[in-house]
Amino acid sequence: MAKAVVIGSGIGGIAAAIRLAVKGYSVTVLEANASFGGKMTQFTLPGGYRFDAGPSLFTLPQLVDDLFTLAGRNPKDYFRYQRLPIVTQYFWPDGTRLTAHSSAQAFAQEVETKLGIPQEQLHRHLEKVARLYHATAHTFLHKSLHKLDTYLSPDVLKTLPALPELGLTTTMHAANARAFSDPRLVQLLDRYATYNGSDPYQAPGTLNLIPHLEFNIGAFYPEGGIFAIAQSLVRLGEELGVEFRYNELVQEIITEGSRATGVRTPQGTFAAEVVVSNMDVVPTYRKLLPHQSAPERTLKQPRSSSALIYYWGISRTFPELDLHNIFFSQNYQQEFEHIFQKETVAQDPTVYVNITSKYTPSDAPAGHENWFVMVNVPHNAGQDWDELITQTRQAVITKVSKALGVDLAQLITTEKVWDPRGIEADTSSFAGALYGSSSNNRMAAFLRHPNFTSKLKGLYFVGGSVHPGGGIPLCLLSAKIASDLVPQVSAAVRI
Ligand code: FAD
Repeated sequence: MAKAVVIGSGIGGIAAAIRLAVKGYSVTVLEANASFGGKMTQFTLPGGYRFDAGPSLFTLPQLVDDLFTLAGRNPKDYFRYQRLPIVTQYFWPDGTRLTAHSSAQAFAQEVETKLGIPQEQLHRHLEKVARLYHATAHTFLHKSLHKLDTYLSPDVLKTLPALPELGLTTTMHAANARAFSDPRLVQLLDRYATYNGSDPYQAPGTLNLIPHLEFNIGAFYPEGGIFAIAQSLVRLGEELGVEFRYNELVQEIITEGSRATGVRTPQGTFAAEVVVSNMDVVPTYRKLLPHQSAPERTLKQPRSSSALIYYWGISRTFPELDLHNIFFSQNYQQEFEHIFQKETVAQDPTVYVNITSKYTPSDAPAGHENWFVMVNVPHNAGQDWDELITQTRQAVITKVSKALGVDLAQLITTEKVWDPRGIEADTSSFAGALYGSSSNNRMAAFLRHPNFTSKLKGLYFVGGSVHPGGGIPLCLLSAKIASDLVPQVSAAVRI
């Protein structure tokens, strides 16, 4: 039976393993950590708190369902989720509060009531982003941008008429500021640049398609939290015969001539016809393929932002908060200048608070909440993170205390911090970047590493550092694109 080895069990690696098993390969996943999930992991803190460590917002759940369906299973037997009625609660320093309802109708009404912007204006905007998403997603997200077939496909014909409206020649911020006069709504829409670790003042207007996912398709919450995605997919993989081996650090991709033929770990050698790297593409070349010529231009693309995350047990509940909450900074442009130009953290950063105990009460003791408090920060470039963690913690406490009228410091019962150094150490993500390279220039989509390399047959790439990019949905799509390029070895065998 043809063998495939997957390096890493992040969401992209798990999805690739399932797809290759369905294709008829005997699949082994080699994971350096003691468990699966990579950034999508979970942990508990003393006092009865559970936290999802990394991703918290879940869109396009269909892409998870597709894996179960592909394997002949009913997704609902493995994994359940619900559409959120409220996507995010927003708080501005001037005291404005706005509820971003999942229903476009309710959101438009709220924007009219709170910000005085006519509903029709927002509806027209959301219709436009929906149109552009449908015109482009198939080419840019579902296919390799490095294969001629993609450009010969009829889907490209759908993309061409949309090009003038796509905002390729303007920035996200400029496009949003042209569409809306209220700076608070502009800030809210600019924020979507952070969904792939980018800067709205540099990233192309094309990224203004992202809100389509939340308002037109929906934001979702998996039963039990985000980690349930990885858990349910590993269960499926195991049922399909995928072997997951933990504490197994891949140190080398073995090559013979122009083929990848397996990998080496301290425990032994694994021969394979297909090798899939779910490790960040930069260390894949630097550490596992040191003797191959590396695609330097691709590897040197600027990194996406990283994050400082404070995981706090909080000794009371806040009815005014929901699953996702944002406390905006006063000066958004300055905040992004700090992240991407000065490579530090602004004095007054935007604060994101995720509280899964709102939906999974067992994630915190009764009368308490589990707060995942995140600030966007630069990737690791050797900053004094201990100092920044202390400074930012104080800034967050001051800001959120003021917005909620409490003394937050008194409510924190337990704490853990994850910073860019830890993110890199725990997941091998180069410089601790959350999403691989940033999308801060017009060519970024084309400069991400493809899901294959023409230099080494049999080697494929999945995960957030390669095409089509970071975030759960795109990592799942990377696995689809890569496995579509892998030859079929037999009919779906174990279904
Ligand atoms: P990774 O999660 O990067 O995992 C790679 C795995 O490979 C790791 O387990 C690692 O140990 C293993 N590995 C690496 N090298 C080796 C080796 N040599 N040998 C063996 N194993 C190896 N996305 C969203 O969609 N929504 C969000 O709200 C969101 N928020 C985020 C918040 C935070 C704090 C973080 C950190 C990320 C967030 N993301 C979010 C991004 C999302 O988590 C990632 O894009 C996605 O999970 C990355 O998956 P991946 O397949 O690239 O693998």
